[in-house]
Amino acid sequence: MAKQRRELPPQTISSRIVKEGVQALRDELERLRDEFNQKVAASKELEELEKLRVQFLGKKGEITMLMRSMNDLSAAEKPLMGKLLNELKQAAAREIEKKKVELNEQFQLREQEAQRIDVTLPGRNFNTGRKHPITLVLEEIEDIFTSMGFQIGEGPDVELDYYNFEALNLPQEHPARDMQDSFYIDKEILLRTHTSPVQVRTMQKMAPELPVRIIAPGKVYRRDDDITHSPMFLQVEGLVVDRDISMADLKGTLLLFAREMFGEGREIRLRPSFFPFTEPSAEVDISCIICNGRGCRTCGETGWLEILGAGLVHPRVLENCGYDPEEVSGFAFGMGVERIAMLKYGIDDIRLFYVNDLRMLRQ
Ligand SMILES: [Zn+2]
Repeated sequence: MAKQRRELPPQTISSRIVKEGVQALRDELERLRDEFNQKVAASKELEELEKLRVQFLGKKGEITMLMRSMNDLSAAEKPLMGKLLNELKQAAAREIEKKKVELNEQFQLREQEAQRIDVTLPGRNFNTGRKHPITLVLEEIEDIFTSMGFQIGEGPDVELDYYNFEALNLPQEHPARDMQDSFYIDKEILLRTHTSPVQVRTMQKMAPELPVRIIAPGKVYRRDDDITHSPMFLQVEGLVVDRDISMADLKGTLLLFAREMFGEGREIRLRPSFFPFTEPSAEVDISCIICNGRGCRTCGETGWLEILGAGLVHPRVLENCGYDPEEVSGFAFGMGVERIAMLKYGIDDIRLFYVNDLRMLRQ
């Protein structure tokens, strides 16, 4: 036992106990209880609390040490002091647990507090996105035509020469190919220069079924870049194939579109033109939306604004696509979506659509 006693820390309390007996231990016990309670009550962090636990209840803690020093008591005094010390030890452990729960709750409360929304603070501004003018116009065009019974057709941006030119009555070396200088991937593959290849793809898939009634919106690519041309732009192709389709059907459809898009009072006119894939072909104008046909700078004093190209589907195109031109006929049109958006929103440079300038897009 002597060996064990030598392991004890500075023997002040032990020597007092030897001299003064149980009273010294009782005093020490009171002092420890007070000190412990005070420190635990004052602790504000879990870490601090853990340090206190080690200080008092750890292997070399003050209460633990005090229990060891009981060896110095007489056999008669031991049971009572043992009981008191055990009570102190258990009470201390309970206090620590209690305080731990308390601190944990406080911690969570502070966390919640930090996350709470203070309704008296000024609001934060969200940057709401909005649709690009091109998207808006495209959606409107689609709405107008789908409400007339058109379906939406699609085709690839990277297209075969056959669909982009050949099947549309534009064979190799055809001079009209020059109007649509394209981006070639190789001799047979290119970025489509118009949405017209979707006509071919749709008819070849459907033939000889009737009627064909589609619009095909999509990106097209040409080697052009100035204030009215962008190397990438959007077109909407329209195609109707059925029995007895005439220019009157074309004109009626486009007039309805022009009025839905630009207002009730719009008139349209068709001017003769040339496209290899339509016969006859026409440029279609609407009465100027600025001056209502009286003549102004926007319309070059003519009172008319060109909005698209159209015509009756060339018999050779019908034939290439599996329809008998003796039996059926059709009309087709193609419009630049940017052109429509520029007219609708009064934008004078096509490149503004693609530079992503928020000053323009927010309007
Ligand atoms: Zn005008």
